[in-house]
Amino acid sequence: MTTIDNLPPLRSVIRDHDLSARKSMGQNFLLDLNLTAKIARQAGDLSACDVLEIGPGPGGLTRGLLAQGARRVLAIEKDARCLPALAEIAAAYPGRLEVVNGDALEIDPLSALTPPIRVAANLPYNVGTELLVRWLTPETWPPYWQSLTLMFQREVAERIVAKPGSKAYGRLAILAQWRADAQIVMQLPPEAFTPPPKVSSSVVHITALPAPRYPADANVLSKVVAMAFNQRRKMLRAALKGLGPDIEDRLQAAGIKPTERAERVSLQGFCALARAVAAK
Ligand code: SAM
Repeated sequence: MTTIDNLPPLRSVIRDHDLSARKSMGQNFLLDLNLTAKIARQAGDLSACDVLEIGPGPGGLTRGLLAQGARRVLAIEKDARCLPALAEIAAAYPGRLEVVNGDALEIDPLSALTPPIRVAANLPYNVGTELLVRWLTPETWPPYWQSLTLMFQREVAERIVAKPGSKAYGRLAILAQWRADAQIVMQLPPEAFTPPPKVSSSVVHITALPAPRYPADANVLSKVVAMAFNQRRKMLRAALKGLGPDIEDRLQAAGIKPTERAERVSLQGFCALARAVAAK
């Protein structure tokens, strides 16, 4: 019988189940269980939570989450080759791991989860950014998740936590920081992964706030921010011309100089602008 104590090392799992990494699936595996336990600890106290894990692969982070006491893990994995390895982990933690084979961009996991819910993932970067935007833009706030603990390439992580005045500051920073706290909690060099990717990675921990930091309509804010940063080098009165002929008045009503550039406007400023734009 498989138990926690006789689960094989991840290198043997990969060899025995022939899980050679596939580029097309964005596979860069974490094989050091001390490291995956450390990442799992960044997700907070898991003992009373269901954890949604996207892309468990051979199960390194999955083992970390279970070893850190997750009440239950629901793991969505696209690559069917990983299922036997994950079944061994499920057998070692009876009733605590459910694996769904499919594309996380197409599966709605909500009905299979019981709150409180935390999300943890080491995902291919393109899928990760797409899912992050979806997690940050639900129809209602607070969202179903309490926190997101996600691996990103460092440059994307820096965009999530960026402050005004920096090159990295843009739509992703505003999306993440308007209704959540976002922090980089770990940095990982390429060698931490097998095979190593070309760039360094960071783990970002995002905690949902009970309510938005500043009032604004989500759709208006999103539209204003997208337009402002689409032409980030232009003055706002030019970048936002499409919002109407009185855009200068609205910028002024929001306390923003019409000659200012998007990069220098705070989150609070964008929320004030979204309110000024929405006002009749
Ligand atoms: N979590 C494992 C680890 O840390 O070793 C694997 C990480 S690897 C970077 C990304 C994993 O996500 C792979 O197992 C890959 O098959 C899976 N994956 C890729 N695209 C996916 C998708 N759209 N939905 C679900 N899983 C996906």
